[in-house]
Amino acid sequence: MEDVLKKELSSRKTIALVAHDNKKKDLIEWAKYNKDSLASHNILATGTTGTLLEQSLGIKINKLQSGPLGGDLQIGAMISQSEIDLLIFFWDPLEAQPHDPDVKALLRIAVVWNIPIACNRASADFIFSSPLMTSEYARIMPDYDNYRKRRIDSGRSYSE
Ligand code: PGA
Repeated sequence: MEDVLKKELSSRKTIALVAHDNKKKDLIEWAKYNKDSLASHNILATGTTGTLLEQSLGIKINKLQSGPLGGDLQIGAMISQSEIDLLIFFWDPLEAQPHDPDVKALLRIAVVWNIPIACNRASADFIFSSPLMTSEYARIMPDYDNYRKRRIDSGRSYSE
């Protein structure tokens, strides 16, 4: 059988939380309900979301830049370095955001690296009620070797 690369996740996960302004109330309600569970993991969040969560939950949150100031991209970079295990991202489907390209980039890179994503409360509930939240888990790392080794036509003649 072909070797499959896996990332071993411990029972203590690193979870990124992000909510657009119209969804912050939703995320805070959800987080309050799941406070005990959240407190047993490492939590990080975009700036404003993180500040509001710290005030409401009284637990330490690693706060990044505010989303529109680069926070979404910071989370994306951490995902590509295997530093985040789960993304809870309550994005607003009814309002255009100034940082729409960053939102798209974050959602895309989470799919690229096979990171579980919850974009609404029901999905977050399903993920949080999974036994995998409190156990170890070997997440399959997609194999991009063929992509990295793909042949590129540089447009130059080999006789140059
Ligand atoms: P914020 O960013 O938590 O700083 O508001 C969220 C976002 O819009 O990505």
